[in-house]
Amino acid sequence: MIIGSHVSMSGKDMLLASVKEALSYGANTFMFYTGAPQNTRRKETSELKIEEAKALMKQSGIDIRNVVVHAPYIINLANTVKEETYELAVRFLKQELQRCADIGTSILVLHPGSHVQAGLEAGLNQIILGLNEVLKETPYQGKIALETMAGKGSEVGTTFDQLKYIIDHCDYPEKLGICLDTCHIHDAGYDLSNFDAILDEFDRVLGLENLLAVHLNDSKNVKGAHKDRHANLGHGEIGFDILNGVAHNERIKDVPKILETPFINQKAPYKEEITMLKNQTFTNIE
Ligand code: FE
Ligand code: FE
Ligand code: ZN
Repeated sequence: MIIGSHVSMSGKDMLLASVKEALSYGANTFMFYTGAPQNTRRKETSELKIEEAKALMKQSGIDIRNVVVHAPYIINLANTVKEETYELAVRFLKQELQRCADIGTSILVLHPGSHVQAGLEAGLNQIILGLNEVLKETPYQGKIALETMAGKGSEVGTTFDQLKYIIDHCDYPEKLGICLDTCHIHDAGYDLSNFDAILDEFDRVLGLENLLAVHLNDSKNVKGAHKDRHANLGHGEIGFDILNGVAHNERIKDVPKILETPFINQKAPYKEEITMLKNQTFTNIE
């Protein structure tokens, strides 16, 4: 099982601190933002302690090919309504790919975007335009993993078919893949109680080899609610057994699983949740 969580990158140790945090949870991978997700201020990659972080990863068995970067959620490539929003998204995403190249990661998770009031088709086509622009000339050797979305507001990318449309119409399909978020697909209306059927559909529409990462979250809301509120494992509508089944599913055993579950009493729940998954047994940590 390749399992980790979202970790922070801050202080003077930066990425080295991220690796240490992941190891403290018993994780063998992790996901991080290159800076605050709600703004565009970023440190130079030379200040991130990349070499030290890589040395510790190597020494402790974290394969950098499983490490995930999450693009900031201010990026909205789907916006056709406000030109500045789209232009900022393209500019920032280009820089983000450069940062990933500098760090040496190969999975960048991206929310496809929200069409605002312009409609699904306009949104999808704008994303394709943006991805083409960003991927045209890039030093980044890895892939962008489009995340499956819950469908809150005007989010696009809520079905496998929509994501397939983006990949098929992009000039660089080989640079794209998918991040499947269990909370999001549940909120989008997929029935996780038969996860193998979901994988069958994923394989038929998108190809299972294009699944690059899984976000493993329970959901506070019922199936199809289009809300996107994450819950701790076993504390939501999906339930521990199903999520444990996803984590241990043989067909996706080489795909990194990342927890994005909420903190409990201001404390990260990841060590306990990873332990539960390793033991395949639910324990109440609240
Ligand atoms: Fe996300
Ligand atoms: Fe997610
Ligand atoms: Zn979410």
